[in-house]
Amino acid sequence: MSTSVSSSAQIRRSRTLDKLITAEDLAPGGHFIDGAFRAGNSGAVTDVVDPCNGEPITSVADGTVEEVDAGVAAAVAAKRQWGSLVPKERSEILHRIADRLSEHSELLARIESANTGKPFMVSEDDVAGTIDTFRFMAGALRATTSLAAGTYAAEHLSLILREPLGVVGVVTPWNYPLLMGAWKIAPILAAGNTLVLKPSEQTPLTTLKFAELVADILPPGVFNVVTGRGSIVGARLSDHPDVDMIALTGSVNSGRAVARGAAESLKRVHLELGGKAPVVIFPDADLAAAAKSLRAAGYWNSGQECGAACRVLVHNSVADRFTELLVREVNTLKVGEPGAGPEIEIGPLTSKGHFDRVVGYLERARRDGIRAAAGGAALEGPGYFVAPTVLVSVPDGAECSREEIFGPVITIETFETEEEAIARANDVPFGLAASVWTEDARRSHDVASRIDAGTVWVNSHLVLANEVPWGGFKGSGYGRDLSIYALDDYSRTKHVMHNRGR
Ligand code: NAD
Repeated sequence: MSTSVSSSAQIRRSRTLDKLITAEDLAPGGHFIDGAFRAGNSGAVTDVVDPCNGEPITSVADGTVEEVDAGVAAAVAAKRQWGSLVPKERSEILHRIADRLSEHSELLARIESANTGKPFMVSEDDVAGTIDTFRFMAGALRATTSLAAGTYAAEHLSLILREPLGVVGVVTPWNYPLLMGAWKIAPILAAGNTLVLKPSEQTPLTTLKFAELVADILPPGVFNVVTGRGSIVGARLSDHPDVDMIALTGSVNSGRAVARGAAESLKRVHLELGGKAPVVIFPDADLAAAAKSLRAAGYWNSGQECGAACRVLVHNSVADRFTELLVREVNTLKVGEPGAGPEIEIGPLTSKGHFDRVVGYLERARRDGIRAAAGGAALEGPGYFVAPTVLVSVPDGAECSREEIFGPVITIETFETEEEAIARANDVPFGLAASVWTEDARRSHDVASRIDAGTVWVNSHLVLANEVPWGGFKGSGYGRDLSIYALDDYSRTKHVMHNRGR
């Protein structure tokens, strides 16, 4: 590991010996199938590690194909009854889940911080977002109606019905374990489906706690969790003939794997994959506002964020000024363990493997002559901490500005013309999110419409709401989380035509 001389970041360590969580805080180990926890039958486990020091917290079962099959069988058995509840009944259950999560919000935030290393401000935001997702879906499901009922062929009355898909397989990532779970679970249940969820093997603790908390609210079999590896549990969910859709939030490679697995049974696929969000800054932009916004949007959750503002394209004429403002902002970020206090803004990266990957990008950038104006390397000491980094004078096509680093790293490139800015913003395989910074309304409307991303912010970045859809284009996948678009994705449309001729 190399350390940076240019970094002003220091890791704040927890001054107390208190652990964030105790064994009693955690859900029972094992899988959650048909309303109860059951021990894994393979005997194999994966350690769950504290990223602040690399020490194991606990371990979880490595699920088998047979255990996935048991989870799917439970979900199949439960689907008719769950799917036939009227919207009001399902809505009330989702509200009860939101109430239960609210009652345990502090505990959920502590477990999430202990498992991922997230600062409390991030975990608390995740838990609040999780609760709001259930409340939104509880309301939205009651407001959904079918498109039309009418006569479109002589003497025939058409009804268009919205139905659940059946059983949905869900695979979630490690960066927002509870929140990404909620983004799937809430609309899937709201639309009347049952599900089997596989959390990331690195961060399963809040998902298991969620299962424990809702066990007496949801009927058995409606929600099931099988822990374990993507290559076994995720792959079986993808190719299982009784699973009607597979929904994954994760990397592009995992997206390809589940889509291949789903091909044989022709099940539906819903993919939220990676991103490399361009931030296009025009000369008339409020540069100070942009720098302040990127302080959060580039580094929130240590940059382990698919929509992170990680790739700045700034006009030549204001590049030096903007860089100076951004570096000043970044050097004020407070890095540390979650237990070191509520003011901590940046935690460690979540796993050793991911830490090595991010440090590798920084080392190769330095070898290629790219300068770090802030940070640029790992921070000394135990844990997977990387200094908040700004890489400057990045040439067009550099690896660090094209590939998803998924760490606390912003790259800065410059452009001369608007056409060039748009072309380069679109010249990556991803299309999840982007932002445009200008005071010119005509330009912002036009440029936003020409950027190939599922979300484009104007004079802002990384602001989300449950009412609006989230999802990507191109290599960032397809399907939408949040909003009524997610309810649509987890529903199917049926046309019933009555001959009323007499
Ligand atoms: P990952 O793809 O390594 O893992 C995600 C999940 O997929 C894990 O549960 C993993 O076990 C599983 N998996 C791995 N191989 C699989 C296979 N062959 N079949 C089925 N499942 C498999 O991703 P990650 O490292 O956990 O998460 C980071 C990635 O997720 C980043 O690329 C990030 O951009 C993306 N992400 C996207 C969004 C979004 O909304 N678009 C949100 C969060 C994260």
